[in-house]
Amino acid sequence: MSELLGTGVGRGVAHGHVLRMADPLGEPSTAALEGSADDAKQAVATALAAVADDLNKRGQLAGGDAQAVLEAQALMAQDPTLLDDVHARIDGGTNAERAVFEAFGQFRDLLVQMGGYMGERAADLDDVAQRIVAKLRGVPAPGVPESDTPFVLVARDLAPADTALLDLDKVLALVTRDGGPTSHTAILARAKGITAIVGVTGADELTDGLHVVVDAAAGTVVTDPSESLVAEVDQRIADRLAAAAAPLTAGTLADGTAVPLLANLGSPADAAGAVALGAEGVGLFRTEFLFLDSPKAPTVEQQTESYRQLLEAFPGKKVVVRALDAGADKPLPFLTDKDEENPALGRRGLRALRNHPEVLRDQLTALAQADAVTEADLWVMAPMVADAEETVYFVDLARELGIRTAGVMAEVPSLALMAEQVFQTADFVSIGTNDLTQYTMAADRMLGTVASYQDPWHPAVLRLVAQLGSAGAAAGKPVGICGEAAADPLLAVVLVGLGATTLSMTPAALADVRAELGRHTLEQAREMATAALAASTAAAAKSAAAAAHAA
Ligand code: PEP
Ligand code: MG
Repeated sequence: MSELLGTGVGRGVAHGHVLRMADPLGEPSTAALEGSADDAKQAVATALAAVADDLNKRGQLAGGDAQAVLEAQALMAQDPTLLDDVHARIDGGTNAERAVFEAFGQFRDLLVQMGGYMGERAADLDDVAQRIVAKLRGVPAPGVPESDTPFVLVARDLAPADTALLDLDKVLALVTRDGGPTSHTAILARAKGITAIVGVTGADELTDGLHVVVDAAAGTVVTDPSESLVAEVDQRIADRLAAAAAPLTAGTLADGTAVPLLANLGSPADAAGAVALGAEGVGLFRTEFLFLDSPKAPTVEQQTESYRQLLEAFPGKKVVVRALDAGADKPLPFLTDKDEENPALGRRGLRALRNHPEVLRDQLTALAQADAVTEADLWVMAPMVADAEETVYFVDLARELGIRTAGVMAEVPSLALMAEQVFQTADFVSIGTNDLTQYTMAADRMLGTVASYQDPWHPAVLRLVAQLGSAGAAAGKPVGICGEAAADPLLAVVLVGLGATTLSMTPAALADVRAELGRHTLEQAREMATAALAASTAAAAKSAAAAAHAA
């Protein structure tokens, strides 16, 4: 057996035989253009139209998040600036395939230089270029291999067009050499519930037919697994299937303590899917996702309509909406300062809203209006709040504009350290463990090189959660968790032991967390939390928690 490491997406585990995706088409030759420039331009136009059409059709077939991604790719294929560049190269005597390759390649390099979210779109653009070159060459576009039996798909990187249409009966798991946790491959794999590991060093060594175990929870690919490991994996797969098929009961510990399981959503369109997976409400609605492409601040009417749609999907249920969290990896042109050297430490979240109070007032007004005509129990919270003074600012404004329940997110360590004062004003606190970990450990959550610091199991992060939990209990007010940590079943139990009263996560994780909660009592969860707090590293905290109460 040998082990390769990468970044796991979701909690799945699988084993099977490797089938590699064909490597990309060979680079087009630099031979000079033969024939007329007009003919070459016509051939490119036909190829572009066919590729855009194909991507749009695949999008319609796939629906949901995948459709938006594939339609964005179709738009790339028809980008007028890129086409001008291709034409200029053809006019300069370059052959059509080469002209497409060079024009798209130049734009790709620009995206890579921009890094972060934009850098991760480079794979999308490469895929479009490959499809156009394949059309010009008259060969099939590179894609997922055909097989009669299930397999583990290994690829250099997977294009969104391929990820979206993966046949879940055939693809047991996905392993890619490239890509980070925010690449589209990861986003789509998470939404589809595919066991996946991205950014696997050494993935090129995984050859066709090799037997591998893919463990997303551990972020490992084990080659030539032993019989006992395979048996253990089969047991885990059976447990997960049982959890997924279990009745959609409310989140409850083994002793009957209720721990409501809520959904993290980014669009009202995702509400039905969350309800189908048993979400008891919404613990985090990321409003900024609705407006990422808007050059101007959305109007009150526009927002009221979106919030009304969301609230209507949850009559009688709790829905926690977050005020716009602009900045860092989610810039909004109408809120975000340009040219900040360290945008994650800049004017983001509530700081940006306070700098544009009219935007915050409009959003709170729209929320209050949507609340007035629907039956959900609306709670509203502010992101990136540093202390009690900022809490008072937000909660007072929210109440003035008609919001009944107003709270803050705990994402900045200073807020956790000031928890008692914060609870004097806030109706509730929701802990964003993604940012709380980033800021506690001083490790950029977008940066692969410091990914090992981005571990919410770190006792430093757990201590801050414990402080918030105790302050919430003393004040008799709810403390939710809405970062990715709540989707880690064992950590979810520890967070409850530290005082979390609700857990909110990507809906695909609800079944695993529901099952794990049912294996521990509140007293056991507290013992696990105490053991984790006493550890000195993230790994030690995890083992200590597991050892404190093996379910
Ligand atoms: C968090 O920081 O944990 C959180 C839930 O907010 P986001 O991931 O949107 O920054
Ligand atoms: Mg956050």
